[in-house]
Amino acid sequence: MIASDAPTALGRFGRFGGCFVPEMLVPAIERLTAQVTEALADETFLEVYTHELRTWVGRPTALTLCAHLSEAWGAEVYLKREDLAHTGAHKINNALGQAMLAKRSGATRVVAETGAGQHGVATAAACARVGLPCTVYMGAVDVKRQAPNVMRMHQLGAEVVPVTSGDATLRAAIDEALRAWVADPEGTAYVLGSAVGPHPYPLLVRELQAVIGREARAQLLEARGRLPDVAIACVGGGSNAIGLFHPFRHDPEVALLGVEAGGRSAEPQHHAATVTHGTEGVLHGCLSLLLQTEAGQIQETHSISAGLDYPGVGPEHALLAATGRARYTVATDDEALEALRELCRLEGILPALESAHALAGARAYAVDHPGSLLLVNLSGRGDKDLATLEATP
Ligand SMILES: *Cc1c(COP(=O)(O)O)cnc(C)c1O
Repeated sequence: MIASDAPTALGRFGRFGGCFVPEMLVPAIERLTAQVTEALADETFLEVYTHELRTWVGRPTALTLCAHLSEAWGAEVYLKREDLAHTGAHKINNALGQAMLAKRSGATRVVAETGAGQHGVATAAACARVGLPCTVYMGAVDVKRQAPNVMRMHQLGAEVVPVTSGDATLRAAIDEALRAWVADPEGTAYVLGSAVGPHPYPLLVRELQAVIGREARAQLLEARGRLPDVAIACVGGGSNAIGLFHPFRHDPEVALLGVEAGGRSAEPQHHAATVTHGTEGVLHGCLSLLLQTEAGQIQETHSISAGLDYPGVGPEHALLAATGRARYTVATDDEALEALRELCRLEGILPALESAHALAGARAYAVDHPGSLLLVNLSGRGDKDLATLEATP
């Protein structure tokens, strides 16, 4: 499964990535790295995983030609429909793979972090499926904001622990999940929700999400007999984007475009556009781009979509930006809302607010490249955003 683009043995993507963790966690990380390498080369494990993706997650997800949107934008638009995957987003591809890995490695419990609750729901479902108890750490602020997902996790049998330390949102929840892992590194597996964190997580998450790009590439070749001019995805931590991009990395005719959360404005604390506005630093065990002050304090972020509201980004995106292989733009809250409403009206699809950023970026791309063929990853469905949408004129 791991082909030519494996990071170095130290987990570096160029100068980014690595494994900056407290010494207490080093043995657990080393064990995990060995388990990941083994599992990704184990044909039987991969066969069972692929079978589960097909019969439980519902893969392959559809590739949808959007005729009305294409006409409105003056470009040909295909959507990769991760909103149709079990639990409503791409996150299940990763959560299932990591839960199966935990089971294979003999862990007796799983811990996970969650922000908006999407990764928590996916992990709760995957743990029920493989038969492992699951504890999800969630910022106390988010527990209040995302009540429906908290209830979904409960129904799926997970314990949800509100985290009141730090900013009481995603960043604090990751810190707390890491702490739980340090306390019991042998029995506990940490299922991390995006292509971030210390090596080997960015590699593992990319390998588990690359199914998105592999399927889309084959589906588009079948539908259109050619590759897209551009592949577009929203970027929070960067897992759905790297999953879409990876299988196109050696196709120079395919541009790669990541769309970040432009929030209210480009002012500090009013957005979550890490590649666009960030500087180099270490967060959650990984050297990458970060939204931080000159003194190195992590900045507050804002996005209308909770899933993009993270001050870091996966190290492979930092490398793709540095080498110019991928380009990164922003869509503001308002642009994302407008794109969401356009997709609802023209195509009968209610996307997640996160995915609406990719759509807004796609629309801007179409204006600049009339007649081009666009592949857009629709990372999730918008049911979870209904309260926000109803409250927003
Ligand atoms: C969590 C989430 C994202 C952002 O996470 P990435 O790791 O950047 O993909 C995007 N879309 C949806 C629907 C999500 O739930």
